[in-house]
Amino acid sequence: MKVLVVNAGSSSIKYQVFDMTDESVLAKGLVDRVGIPGTSLKHEPTGKDEVIIKKDLPDHTEGMKLVFEVLVNPEYGCIKSMDEIGAVGHRVVHGGEEFASSVVIDDHVKKVIKDCFDIAPLHNPPNLMGIEACQSLMPNVPHVVVFDTAFHQTMEAANYMYALPYDVYEKFRVRRYGFHGTSHFYVSHRAAEMLGKPYEDCKIITLHLGNGASMAAIKGGKVVDTSMGFTPLEGLVMGTRSGDIDPAIVFYLMDKLEMNSSEANSYFNKKSGMLGLSGVSNDLRDILAAAKTGNTRAQIALAVYYNKVKGYIGNYIAKLNGCDCLVFTAGVGENAADIRESVCSDLDYLGIKIDAEKNNVRGKEVDVAAADSKVRIFVIPTNEELVIARDTFQLATK
Ligand code: AMP
Repeated sequence: MKVLVVNAGSSSIKYQVFDMTDESVLAKGLVDRVGIPGTSLKHEPTGKDEVIIKKDLPDHTEGMKLVFEVLVNPEYGCIKSMDEIGAVGHRVVHGGEEFASSVVIDDHVKKVIKDCFDIAPLHNPPNLMGIEACQSLMPNVPHVVVFDTAFHQTMEAANYMYALPYDVYEKFRVRRYGFHGTSHFYVSHRAAEMLGKPYEDCKIITLHLGNGASMAAIKGGKVVDTSMGFTPLEGLVMGTRSGDIDPAIVFYLMDKLEMNSSEANSYFNKKSGMLGLSGVSNDLRDILAAAKTGNTRAQIALAVYYNKVKGYIGNYIAKLNGCDCLVFTAGVGENAADIRESVCSDLDYLGIKIDAEKNNVRGKEVDVAAADSKVRIFVIPTNEELVIARDTFQLATK
């Protein structure tokens, strides 16, 4: 069976086509600026040249129509007809408390996705638009949803409750959910294979360090804790998100900077983090380069970043009562050797020692720990699309 994986954002649609007989990728691509003038589609068929198509598209349905045309194009397509696609897998960010695993989409699932609009306003509405666009164009195949929050649903109340009046949890579901679950799931399973131990016997700390960043502590096959919370704003310092701060700063700055709640939301999500702190960029490559030339704010931003990650490593080793491995993944984790080295420096008391020479790698599955490190340190490129394709295939063939 061939499976189409779709990840629809507010103005973008990412897609991949998998042949599930060998899990190979037949093509992948991105439609950018959907609904904004200057829409473009970049299509990368495996083994053929990349194709770029520029055509303004008003909405996700028109975006998906163009994707379908490209997929069956005789020259650069990867299938003869859309009938070859046996199922579609969709990424959805928030599944609330109801879903701890992937599900076939029906009216109830769509209602749950809608019920979470309130708590994931940037993500769930476009995710649902992508689902509805695909369903209208492919009404006769199963559509499956894979939630970013699902893997973290194994967390216990000790780690998912905030110390707020209990009724805000009961009335408004204010609790910690965690995100990037599909990535933490994928890399932690690969890590168990690299450790050569059953997954259920492992204590794993995963570090998904990208523009958005989160960590997870996994024990006995379950997420014990994760750094993102009610929304993806909590936790580590990110490209443009503040991560953990004293909540009193929010109302203090709303007052001082005369911001309403939506302006404040944007301030802490889009203007803070490494961008706000360094004043250079949200991209760690630019910040590392600036720090090397003596830019003090870039140096401080990096010091804050490392400190926060180290703090979570200590926190999670305490909560797991030990650790078999750290796993670095996503844009920064997979590619930035100097960041991995700084994060792991001076942690030998916790049994963490990195080998600078082995660590000089990018985007490969490798153990970069020193021979005498008690904790293994893995670099594992994430593959969220493969998890979505596998879950979709499994549910569609059940
Ligand atoms: P992601 O969100 O996982 O796609 O990661 C994107 C981020 O990875 C970019 O914003 C960069 O900050 C970061 N990145 C990618 N390559 C490198 C690198 N070689 N060194 C440092 N950061 C990198």
